[in-house]
Amino acid sequence: MSEPLRVAVVGSGPAGFYAAGALLSADLPVEVDMVERLPTPWGLVRLGVAPDHPNIKAVSRAFERIAAQPGFRFFGNVELGRDVTAEELARLYDAVVYAVGAQTDRRLGIPGEDLPGSWAATEFVAWYNGHPDYQSLPFDLNTERAVVVGAGNVALDVARMLALSPEELAPTDTTDAAIAAIAESPLREIVVLARRGPAQAAFTTPELKEMGELADADVVVDPADLEGAVGTDTNSERNLEVLREYAGRAPAGRGRAVVFRFCVSPVAIRGTDRVEEIEIVHNELVADEGGNVRAVATDRRETIPCGLVFRSVGYRGVPVPGVPFDDAGGVIPNDRGRVAPGLYVAGWIKRGPTGVIGTNKKDATETVELLLEDARAGLLARESDERLESLLQERGLEVVAYAGWEAIDRNERARGEPLGRPRVKLCSWEELLDAARGVGVSR
Ligand SMILES: Cc1cc2nc3c(=O)[nH]c(=O)nc-3n(C[C@H](O)[C@H](O)[C@H](O)COP(=O)(O)OP(=O)(O)OC[C@H]3O[C@@H](n4cnc5c(N)ncnc54)[C@H](O)[C@@H]3O)c2cc1C
Repeated sequence: MSEPLRVAVVGSGPAGFYAAGALLSADLPVEVDMVERLPTPWGLVRLGVAPDHPNIKAVSRAFERIAAQPGFRFFGNVELGRDVTAEELARLYDAVVYAVGAQTDRRLGIPGEDLPGSWAATEFVAWYNGHPDYQSLPFDLNTERAVVVGAGNVALDVARMLALSPEELAPTDTTDAAIAAIAESPLREIVVLARRGPAQAAFTTPELKEMGELADADVVVDPADLEGAVGTDTNSERNLEVLREYAGRAPAGRGRAVVFRFCVSPVAIRGTDRVEEIEIVHNELVADEGGNVRAVATDRRETIPCGLVFRSVGYRGVPVPGVPFDDAGGVIPNDRGRVAPGLYVAGWIKRGPTGVIGTNKKDATETVELLLEDARAGLLARESDERLESLLQERGLEVVAYAGWEAIDRNERARGEPLGRPRVKLCSWEELLDAARGVGVSR
């Protein structure tokens, strides 16, 4: 085939970039147009991964190398469903790969969940990372106790960010508003609630260990919570070792404390005008025939006074207009990434919100293999030779091309440099588009 295969990748997170990388290194000529609703690429690597984990964010260098390959183009500030439809992409491209991630969170489904002071971890994470859609959220950290519901790494991120000292936050790219709010907060205690026991928690050991190494926060674990807990795999065995070490520590009187509570679930959040307390129920662990350990509520309840609640019980995909959706699973139904010849998925919208960044590489590669198989079998054909840029131009849309993103990137790094920070993010749509204007924006 001499005419390059034209592929649109929607979403510029890890899954989108790994899909683009696999496509551009295929043994047939391929052009990739990446469509992203934000003016900035990298998805949750920029806007999810905790700012005090710069080494993890450094994976973006691999994405930069992919973007530098011939055949790659970036269409930032273009939202599928608003600016262009799935039908239009299907007409303009031989194949479309949806890598739009999981854009919302799971709810607790308990009374009081919508009280001011009760937040989704998604919102807090997007706020402290400078996502332009979340900067006006009124985070008020003026309370002595916050409760984080969930036993995964995102819950740990939220708890740790709240517990970091100003000195720990200063060299990061956390937004200035978030640094100020965390530093000025009178928070004394951050309580992490896990539905099941310590052996079932989804934390990974390095992240759990990090909690015990914070400059100004103690970590508190009740030894009674660990009694009888037995690891079921290497991760849970190592987690138990770390938790046992925590349980043996005497509080060192640091400014804040992160308190782990196991086998408890929230049943209600209460307060007059805002969150004042959370009621929890103690659970018993019951193993079913398949060996799965379930949490079963007892009649023992307890109330914890607090001014903030963050729910971190999972992310969830949202439907892409014009593309099939499995509402129960929160994913686009697919077989190893193929929805139908010409229509593919990768990343969290394909398999659900699990796994680390690297998991998306294998996942996207699997998808691209099927796409290339369909191309070789002659199953892919676009209806039109019209180019996306002319369609967007006709609509008067302002596209941020890759050079526009590079201008944003330079601007942010330049602002960060004198402060010893990797970058100071531009966090409003106006600032982002202004920085891109005149360089990479075409109208
Ligand atoms: C808070 C948090 C912290 C994490 N920390 C780590 C960590 O430390 N280490 C680690 O390995 N993993 C971490 N992960 C997991 C990792 O971020 C994910 O595995 C990965 O980002 C999923 O990739 P994705 O490409 O499927 O989705 P995303 O990264 O979410 O990318 C999806 C992209 O699609 C875009 N998009 C969505 N809808 C549209 C639309 N309609 N039109 C155009 N574009 C659209 C979005 O703007 C986004 O850029 C973390 C996840 C979270 C939530």
